Amino acid sequence: ALSEARSVLLPGATLGVMGGGQLGRMFVHAAQSLGYFTAVLDADPVSPAGLVAQYHVQTGYQDEQGLAQLMQRCQAITTEFENVPAGALRTLGAQRPVAPSGDAVAVCQDRALEKAHFVRCGVPCAPHALIEDEAGLAAIDAAALLPGILKTARLGYDGKGQVRVRSADELAAAWRDLGGVACVLERMLPLALELSVVVARNAHGEVVTLPVQQNLHRDGILAVTQVPAPDATPAQSAQAVACAARIAAELGYVGVLCVEFFVLADGTLVANEMAPRPHNSGHWSIDGADISQFELQVRTLTGLPLIAPRQHSPSVMLNLLGDLWFDAAGQLREPDWAGVLALPGVHLHLYGKTDARVGRKMGHLTVTAATAEQAREVALQVCARLG
Ligand code: ADP
Ligand code: MG
Repeated sequence: ALSEARSVLLPGATLGVMGGGQLGRMFVHAAQSLGYFTAVLDADPVSPAGLVAQYHVQTGYQDEQGLAQLMQRCQAITTEFENVPAGALRTLGAQRPVAPSGDAVAVCQDRALEKAHFVRCGVPCAPHALIEDEAGLAAIDAAALLPGILKTARLGYDGKGQVRVRSADELAAAWRDLGGVACVLERMLPLALELSVVVARNAHGEVVTLPVQQNLHRDGILAVTQVPAPDATPAQSAQAVACAARIAAELGYVGVLCVEFFVLADGTLVANEMAPRPHNSGHWSIDGADISQFELQVRTLTGLPLIAPRQHSPSVMLNLLGDLWFDAAGQLREPDWAGVLALPGVHLHLYGKTDARVGRKMGHLTVTAATAEQAREVALQVCARLG
Protein backbone atom coordinates (compact mmCIF):
# COMPACT_ATOMS: atom_id res chain seq x y z
CA ALA A 1 0.00 0.00 0.00
CA LEU A 2 2.89 2.33 0.76
CA SER A 3 4.45 1.91 -2.66
CA GLU A 4 1.03 2.41 -4.26
CA ALA A 5 0.56 5.61 -2.32
CA ARG A 6 3.98 6.82 -3.46
CA SER A 7 3.17 6.23 -7.12
CA VAL A 8 0.22 8.65 -7.07
CA LEU A 9 1.04 12.01 -8.64
CA LEU A 10 -0.71 14.53 -6.44
CA PRO A 11 -1.99 18.01 -7.40
CA GLY A 12 0.94 20.39 -7.73
CA ALA A 13 2.69 18.08 -10.20
CA THR A 14 2.93 19.04 -13.88
CA LEU A 15 1.09 16.95 -16.47
CA GLY A 16 2.01 17.00 -20.14
CA VAL A 17 -0.16 16.45 -23.20
CA MET A 18 0.93 15.65 -26.73
CA GLY A 19 -1.25 17.71 -29.04
CA GLY A 20 -2.82 21.13 -28.65
CA GLY A 21 -6.36 20.67 -30.01
CA GLN A 22 -9.65 21.07 -28.18
CA LEU A 23 -9.34 17.69 -26.46
CA GLY A 24 -6.03 18.84 -25.00
CA ARG A 25 -7.59 22.13 -23.97
CA MET A 26 -10.36 20.38 -22.02
CA PHE A 27 -7.80 18.01 -20.45
CA VAL A 28 -5.80 21.08 -19.36
CA HIS A 29 -8.93 22.66 -17.87
CA ALA A 30 -9.69 19.49 -15.88
CA ALA A 31 -6.09 19.14 -14.69
CA GLN A 32 -5.87 22.78 -13.67
CA SER A 33 -9.14 22.57 -11.81
CA LEU A 34 -7.64 19.75 -9.73
CA GLY A 35 -4.54 21.85 -9.00
CA TYR A 36 -2.08 20.45 -11.52
CA PHE A 37 0.23 22.44 -13.73
CA THR A 38 0.15 21.58 -17.42
CA ALA A 39 2.41 21.59 -20.45
CA VAL A 40 1.33 21.16 -24.07
CA LEU A 41 3.48 20.11 -27.01
CA ASP A 42 2.14 21.41 -30.32
CA ALA A 43 3.85 23.28 -33.16
CA ASP A 44 0.92 25.70 -33.60
CA PRO A 45 1.60 28.91 -31.63
CA VAL A 46 -2.16 29.49 -31.18
CA SER A 47 -3.32 25.92 -30.53
CA PRO A 48 -6.47 25.71 -28.34
CA ALA A 49 -4.62 23.84 -25.54
CA GLY A 50 -1.35 25.74 -25.87
CA LEU A 51 -3.28 28.96 -25.22
CA VAL A 52 -4.46 27.80 -21.78
CA ALA A 53 -1.59 25.62 -20.46
CA GLN A 54 1.16 27.00 -18.21
CA TYR A 55 3.85 25.77 -20.60
CA HIS A 56 3.70 25.43 -24.36
CA VAL A 57 6.48 23.56 -26.14
CA GLN A 58 6.16 24.76 -29.74
CA THR A 59 7.67 21.92 -31.75
CA GLY A 60 6.59 19.00 -33.88
CA TYR A 61 5.79 15.62 -32.29
CA GLN A 62 9.11 14.06 -33.27
CA ASP A 63 11.38 16.98 -32.38
CA GLU A 64 14.00 15.57 -29.97
CA GLN A 65 14.53 18.85 -28.18
CA GLY A 66 10.80 19.42 -27.85
CA LEU A 67 10.28 15.95 -26.37
CA ALA A 68 13.22 16.49 -23.98
CA GLN A 69 11.76 19.82 -22.86
CA LEU A 70 8.36 18.23 -22.25
CA MET A 71 9.93 15.45 -20.16
CA GLN A 72 11.90 17.96 -18.16
CA ARG A 73 8.74 19.91 -17.31
CA CYS A 74 6.36 16.99 -16.68
CA GLN A 75 5.97 14.14 -14.22
CA ALA A 76 3.55 12.25 -16.51
CA ILE A 77 2.37 12.63 -20.09
CA THR A 78 -0.81 11.83 -22.04
CA THR A 79 -2.01 12.40 -25.60
CA GLU A 80 -5.06 14.11 -27.05
CA PHE A 81 -4.47 13.22 -30.69
CA GLU A 82 -4.42 9.65 -31.94
CA ASN A 83 -2.00 10.34 -34.75
CA VAL A 84 0.89 11.41 -32.54
CA PRO A 85 3.61 9.03 -33.79
CA ALA A 86 3.61 6.00 -31.48
CA GLY A 87 7.42 6.18 -31.54
CA ALA A 88 7.34 9.61 -29.87
CA LEU A 89 5.14 8.20 -27.09
CA ARG A 90 7.54 5.26 -26.67
CA THR A 91 10.46 7.70 -26.39
CA LEU A 92 8.62 9.60 -23.65
CA GLY A 93 7.48 6.36 -22.03
CA ALA A 94 11.07 5.24 -21.51
CA GLN A 95 11.55 8.08 -19.02
CA ARG A 96 8.13 9.13 -17.73
CA PRO A 97 4.77 7.48 -17.07
CA VAL A 98 2.88 7.82 -20.37
CA ALA A 99 -0.82 6.89 -20.64
CA PRO A 100 -2.00 5.59 -23.01
CA SER A 101 1.18 3.81 -24.04
CA GLY A 102 2.73 4.05 -27.49
CA ASP A 103 1.91 0.37 -28.04
CA ALA A 104 -1.80 0.83 -27.28
CA VAL A 105 -2.00 3.95 -29.44
CA ALA A 106 -0.30 2.08 -32.32
CA VAL A 107 -3.20 -0.41 -32.41
CA CYS A 108 -5.78 2.40 -32.53
CA GLN A 109 -3.85 4.19 -35.31
CA ASP A 110 -4.27 1.34 -37.75
CA ARG A 111 -7.75 0.16 -38.76
CA ALA A 112 -6.44 -3.31 -39.62
CA LEU A 113 -4.78 -3.79 -36.20
CA GLU A 114 -7.83 -2.28 -34.54
CA LYS A 115 -10.20 -4.74 -36.20
CA ALA A 116 -7.85 -7.63 -35.41
CA HIS A 117 -8.00 -6.55 -31.77
CA PHE A 118 -11.83 -6.54 -31.81
CA VAL A 119 -11.80 -10.05 -33.26
CA ARG A 120 -9.27 -11.18 -30.62
CA CYS A 121 -11.62 -9.83 -27.93
CA GLY A 122 -14.59 -11.70 -29.41
CA VAL A 123 -16.27 -8.38 -30.25
CA PRO A 124 -18.19 -8.48 -33.54
CA CYS A 125 -17.17 -6.02 -36.27
CA ALA A 126 -18.05 -5.47 -39.95
CA PRO A 127 -16.87 -8.09 -42.48
CA HIS A 128 -13.67 -6.60 -43.87
CA ALA A 129 -10.41 -7.21 -45.73
CA LEU A 130 -7.06 -5.46 -45.85
CA ILE A 131 -5.89 -4.13 -49.23
CA GLU A 132 -2.17 -3.35 -49.32
CA ASP A 133 -1.33 -3.93 -52.98
CA GLU A 134 -2.73 -4.94 -56.40
CA ALA A 135 -2.75 -8.60 -55.37
CA GLY A 136 -4.85 -7.75 -52.31
CA LEU A 137 -7.22 -5.77 -54.51
CA ALA A 138 -7.63 -8.67 -56.93
CA ALA A 139 -8.27 -11.12 -54.08
CA ILE A 140 -11.29 -9.23 -52.67
CA ASP A 141 -14.41 -11.33 -52.20
CA ALA A 142 -16.84 -8.92 -53.89
CA ALA A 143 -19.94 -10.91 -52.94
CA ALA A 144 -19.06 -10.69 -49.23
CA LEU A 145 -17.74 -7.11 -49.07
CA LEU A 146 -19.62 -5.05 -51.68
CA PRO A 147 -21.27 -2.64 -51.52
CA GLY A 148 -18.68 -1.40 -49.07
CA ILE A 149 -16.68 1.47 -47.67
CA LEU A 150 -12.99 1.72 -48.45
CA LYS A 151 -11.11 3.39 -45.58
CA THR A 152 -7.42 4.25 -45.42
CA ALA A 153 -5.87 2.10 -42.69
CA ARG A 154 -4.18 5.12 -41.17
CA LEU A 155 -4.81 8.85 -40.62
CA GLY A 156 -8.54 8.97 -41.41
CA TYR A 157 -10.93 11.05 -39.26
CA ASP A 158 -14.31 12.80 -39.53
CA GLY A 159 -15.17 10.74 -42.61
CA LYS A 160 -11.97 11.77 -44.42
CA GLY A 161 -10.03 9.03 -46.24
CA GLN A 162 -13.22 7.07 -46.99
CA VAL A 163 -14.99 6.20 -50.23
CA ARG A 164 -18.22 4.29 -50.72
CA VAL A 165 -17.91 1.68 -53.48
CA ARG A 166 -20.53 -0.53 -55.13
CA SER A 167 -18.56 -2.57 -57.67
CA ALA A 168 -15.10 -4.06 -58.19
CA ASP A 169 -14.39 -1.31 -60.75
CA GLU A 170 -15.36 1.45 -58.32
CA LEU A 171 -13.25 -0.22 -55.66
CA ALA A 172 -10.15 -0.31 -57.88
CA ALA A 173 -10.62 3.35 -58.88
CA ALA A 174 -11.21 4.41 -55.27
CA TRP A 175 -8.12 2.57 -54.01
CA ARG A 176 -5.97 4.32 -56.61
CA ASP A 177 -7.62 7.69 -55.79
CA LEU A 178 -6.66 7.16 -52.16
CA GLY A 179 -3.06 6.89 -53.33
CA GLY A 180 -2.73 3.10 -53.34
CA VAL A 181 -1.99 3.15 -49.60
CA ALA A 182 -2.97 0.37 -47.19
CA CYS A 183 -6.76 0.36 -46.86
CA VAL A 184 -9.49 -1.62 -45.18
CA LEU A 185 -12.58 -2.48 -47.20
CA GLU A 186 -15.64 -2.93 -45.01
CA ARG A 187 -19.04 -4.16 -46.00
CA MET A 188 -21.65 -1.39 -45.93
CA LEU A 189 -23.92 -2.27 -43.02
CA PRO A 190 -27.58 -1.29 -42.54
CA LEU A 191 -27.27 1.04 -39.51
CA ALA A 192 -30.22 1.55 -37.18
CA LEU A 193 -28.22 3.77 -34.83
CA GLU A 194 -24.73 4.65 -33.65
CA LEU A 195 -23.53 4.40 -30.06
CA SER A 196 -20.27 5.00 -28.25
CA VAL A 197 -18.82 4.17 -24.85
CA VAL A 198 -16.08 6.04 -23.01
CA VAL A 199 -14.08 3.71 -20.79
CA ALA A 200 -11.33 4.63 -18.31
CA ARG A 201 -8.85 2.05 -17.01
CA ASN A 202 -6.03 2.60 -14.55
CA ALA A 203 -2.71 0.84 -13.95
CA HIS A 204 -4.35 -1.49 -11.39
CA GLY A 205 -6.77 -2.74 -14.03
CA GLU A 206 -9.77 -0.98 -12.51
CA VAL A 207 -12.34 0.05 -15.14
CA VAL A 208 -15.16 2.58 -15.12
CA THR A 209 -17.37 3.75 -17.98
CA LEU A 210 -19.61 6.67 -18.84
CA PRO A 211 -23.22 5.85 -19.77
CA VAL A 212 -23.84 4.77 -23.36
CA GLN A 213 -24.00 7.68 -25.83
CA GLN A 214 -26.17 7.84 -28.96
CA ASN A 215 -24.60 9.70 -31.85
CA LEU A 216 -25.86 11.33 -35.03
CA HIS A 217 -23.34 12.13 -37.77
CA ARG A 218 -23.72 14.62 -40.61
CA ASP A 219 -21.34 14.37 -43.59
CA GLY A 220 -19.15 11.97 -41.60
CA ILE A 221 -18.77 14.41 -38.68
CA LEU A 222 -20.43 13.99 -35.29
CA ALA A 223 -23.35 16.42 -35.01
CA VAL A 224 -25.42 15.41 -31.97
CA THR A 225 -24.93 13.15 -28.94
CA GLN A 226 -27.76 12.20 -26.58
CA VAL A 227 -27.32 10.61 -23.17
CA PRO A 228 -29.16 8.51 -22.10
CA ALA A 229 -29.25 6.91 -25.55
CA PRO A 230 -32.96 7.18 -26.46
CA ASP A 231 -33.09 4.27 -28.89
CA ALA A 232 -30.72 1.67 -27.42
CA THR A 233 -32.24 -1.29 -25.61
CA PRO A 234 -30.89 -2.12 -22.13
CA ALA A 235 -29.37 -5.31 -23.58
CA GLN A 236 -27.59 -3.40 -26.36
CA SER A 237 -26.28 -0.84 -23.87
CA ALA A 238 -25.04 -3.53 -21.49
CA GLN A 239 -23.32 -5.33 -24.34
CA ALA A 240 -21.65 -2.12 -25.56
CA VAL A 241 -20.29 -1.38 -22.09
CA ALA A 242 -19.04 -4.96 -21.65
CA CYS A 243 -17.35 -4.92 -25.08
CA ALA A 244 -15.65 -1.56 -24.41
CA ALA A 245 -14.33 -2.77 -21.05
CA ARG A 246 -12.99 -5.99 -22.62
CA ILE A 247 -11.33 -4.06 -25.48
CA ALA A 248 -9.53 -1.83 -22.96
CA ALA A 249 -8.54 -4.68 -20.65
CA GLU A 250 -7.17 -6.89 -23.45
CA LEU A 251 -5.00 -3.97 -24.61
CA GLY A 252 -3.64 -3.53 -21.07
CA TYR A 253 -4.87 0.00 -21.64
CA VAL A 254 -4.24 2.82 -19.17
CA GLY A 255 -6.15 6.03 -19.81
CA VAL A 256 -9.41 7.00 -21.51
CA LEU A 257 -10.57 5.10 -24.58
CA CYS A 258 -13.73 5.51 -26.65
CA VAL A 259 -15.28 2.70 -28.67
CA GLU A 260 -17.80 3.50 -31.43
CA PHE A 261 -20.53 0.96 -32.17
CA PHE A 262 -23.22 0.41 -34.76
CA VAL A 263 -26.60 -1.12 -33.97
CA LEU A 264 -27.75 -2.82 -37.15
CA ALA A 265 -31.29 -2.98 -38.50
CA ASP A 266 -31.69 -6.47 -36.95
CA GLY A 267 -30.60 -5.18 -33.53
CA THR A 268 -27.08 -6.67 -33.55
CA LEU A 269 -24.26 -4.67 -32.03
CA VAL A 270 -21.04 -4.24 -34.02
CA ALA A 271 -17.87 -2.37 -33.01
CA ASN A 272 -16.79 0.28 -35.54
CA GLU A 273 -13.58 1.92 -34.32
CA MET A 274 -11.86 3.16 -31.19
CA ALA A 275 -9.98 6.30 -30.19
CA PRO A 276 -7.19 6.25 -27.58
CA ARG A 277 -8.34 9.44 -25.89
CA PRO A 278 -11.46 11.30 -24.79
CA HIS A 279 -13.97 11.57 -27.60
CA ASN A 280 -16.26 14.21 -29.04
CA SER A 281 -19.25 12.06 -28.04
CA GLY A 282 -18.14 12.21 -24.37
CA HIS A 283 -18.10 16.02 -24.11
CA TRP A 284 -21.54 16.07 -22.46
CA SER A 285 -19.91 14.56 -19.35
CA ILE A 286 -18.33 17.94 -18.45
CA ASP A 287 -21.81 19.28 -17.71
CA GLY A 288 -24.03 16.22 -17.32
CA ALA A 289 -21.96 13.98 -15.04
CA ASP A 290 -20.12 14.45 -11.76
CA ILE A 291 -16.81 13.27 -13.27
CA SER A 292 -16.04 14.24 -16.88
CA GLN A 293 -14.11 12.16 -19.40
CA PHE A 294 -11.26 14.66 -19.03
CA GLU A 295 -11.13 14.26 -15.25
CA LEU A 296 -11.07 10.50 -15.88
CA GLN A 297 -8.02 11.11 -18.07
CA VAL A 298 -6.35 13.04 -15.23
CA ARG A 299 -7.24 10.36 -12.69
CA THR A 300 -5.92 7.48 -14.79
CA LEU A 301 -2.72 9.38 -15.65
CA THR A 302 -1.93 10.34 -12.05
CA GLY A 303 -3.14 7.25 -10.22
CA LEU A 304 -5.78 9.21 -8.31
CA PRO A 305 -8.77 7.04 -7.29
CA LEU A 306 -10.88 5.89 -10.22
CA ILE A 307 -14.54 5.89 -9.28
CA ALA A 308 -17.61 5.52 -11.46
CA PRO A 309 -19.01 8.81 -12.80
CA ARG A 310 -22.68 9.44 -12.09
CA GLN A 311 -24.80 11.16 -14.70
CA HIS A 312 -26.87 13.79 -12.87
CA SER A 313 -28.67 15.31 -15.89
CA PRO A 314 -30.03 14.07 -19.19
CA SER A 315 -27.85 15.75 -21.81
CA VAL A 316 -27.87 16.69 -25.48
CA MET A 317 -24.54 17.78 -26.99
CA LEU A 318 -24.44 19.79 -30.22
CA ASN A 319 -21.21 20.28 -32.15
CA LEU A 320 -20.57 23.84 -33.31
CA LEU A 321 -18.90 23.71 -36.71
CA GLY A 322 -17.37 26.66 -38.55
CA ASP A 323 -20.39 26.60 -40.89
CA LEU A 324 -22.32 28.56 -38.25
CA TRP A 325 -20.00 31.52 -38.74
CA PHE A 326 -21.27 32.07 -42.30
CA ASP A 327 -24.66 33.45 -43.34
CA ALA A 328 -26.70 32.28 -46.35
CA ALA A 329 -24.73 34.64 -48.60
CA GLY A 330 -21.43 33.20 -47.37
CA GLN A 331 -20.55 36.32 -45.34
CA LEU A 332 -18.74 35.93 -42.00
CA ARG A 333 -20.91 36.60 -38.95
CA GLU A 334 -20.77 35.87 -35.21
CA PRO A 335 -23.38 33.34 -34.07
CA ASP A 336 -26.00 34.63 -31.61
CA TRP A 337 -24.33 33.45 -28.39
CA ALA A 338 -26.35 35.83 -26.22
CA GLY A 339 -29.57 34.39 -27.64
CA VAL A 340 -28.38 30.84 -27.01
CA LEU A 341 -27.19 31.55 -23.48
CA ALA A 342 -30.59 33.03 -22.63
CA LEU A 343 -31.98 29.48 -22.81
CA PRO A 344 -31.98 27.34 -19.63
CA GLY A 345 -29.39 24.61 -19.13
CA VAL A 346 -27.11 25.64 -21.99
CA HIS A 347 -23.37 25.14 -21.41
CA LEU A 348 -21.28 26.76 -24.15
CA HIS A 349 -17.73 25.61 -24.87
CA LEU A 350 -15.74 27.50 -27.50
CA TYR A 351 -12.23 26.30 -28.24
CA GLY A 352 -10.49 29.64 -28.88
CA LYS A 353 -10.00 29.01 -32.60
CA THR A 354 -9.85 32.29 -34.46
CA ASP A 355 -10.52 31.37 -38.07
CA ALA A 356 -13.82 29.67 -38.76
CA ARG A 357 -13.88 27.26 -41.70
CA VAL A 358 -16.69 25.07 -42.97
CA GLY A 359 -16.54 21.67 -41.21
CA ARG A 360 -14.04 22.86 -38.57
CA LYS A 361 -14.90 22.03 -34.96
CA MET A 362 -15.06 25.45 -33.28
CA GLY A 363 -16.84 24.42 -30.09
CA HIS A 364 -19.76 22.47 -28.71
CA LEU A 365 -22.60 23.06 -26.37
CA THR A 366 -24.38 20.76 -23.99
CA VAL A 367 -27.98 21.20 -22.92
CA THR A 368 -28.75 19.68 -19.53
CA ALA A 369 -32.27 19.47 -18.15
CA ALA A 370 -34.41 17.63 -15.62
CA THR A 371 -35.73 15.31 -18.34
CA ALA A 372 -34.41 14.12 -21.70
CA GLU A 373 -37.52 15.54 -23.37
CA GLN A 374 -36.81 19.03 -21.98
CA ALA A 375 -33.15 18.81 -23.01
CA ARG A 376 -34.23 17.93 -26.58
CA GLU A 377 -36.73 20.82 -26.64
CA VAL A 378 -34.10 23.35 -25.59
CA ALA A 379 -31.63 21.85 -28.11
CA LEU A 380 -34.17 22.50 -30.88
CA GLN A 381 -34.51 26.12 -29.68
CA VAL A 382 -30.72 26.43 -29.75
CA CYS A 383 -30.68 25.23 -33.37
CA ALA A 384 -33.37 27.76 -34.29
CA ARG A 385 -31.37 30.62 -32.71
CA LEU A 386 -28.13 29.57 -34.38
CA GLY A 387 -29.90 29.48 -37.76
P1 ADP B 1 -13.98 8.24 -38.84
O1 ADP B 1 -12.61 7.85 -38.39
O2 ADP B 1 -13.96 9.26 -39.92
O3 ADP B 1 -14.89 8.59 -37.70
P2 ADP B 1 -15.66 5.87 -39.17
O4 ADP B 1 -15.10 4.54 -39.51
O5 ADP B 1 -16.15 6.05 -37.78
O6 ADP B 1 -14.55 6.95 -39.56
O7 ADP B 1 -16.82 6.21 -40.20
C1 ADP B 1 -17.54 7.45 -40.17
C2 ADP B 1 -19.03 7.19 -40.29
O8 ADP B 1 -19.33 6.52 -41.52
C3 ADP B 1 -19.58 6.29 -39.20
O9 ADP B 1 -19.86 7.00 -38.01
C4 ADP B 1 -20.85 5.75 -39.91
O10 ADP B 1 -21.87 6.71 -39.88
C5 ADP B 1 -20.39 5.57 -41.35
N1 ADP B 1 -19.85 4.19 -41.56
C6 ADP B 1 -18.58 3.81 -41.34
N2 ADP B 1 -18.41 2.49 -41.62
C7 ADP B 1 -19.61 2.02 -42.00
C8 ADP B 1 -20.10 0.73 -42.43
N3 ADP B 1 -19.30 -0.35 -42.50
N4 ADP B 1 -21.41 0.63 -42.78
C9 ADP B 1 -22.23 1.72 -42.73
N5 ADP B 1 -21.83 2.95 -42.34
C10 ADP B 1 -20.54 3.12 -41.97
MG1 MG C 1 -15.73 7.39 -36.26
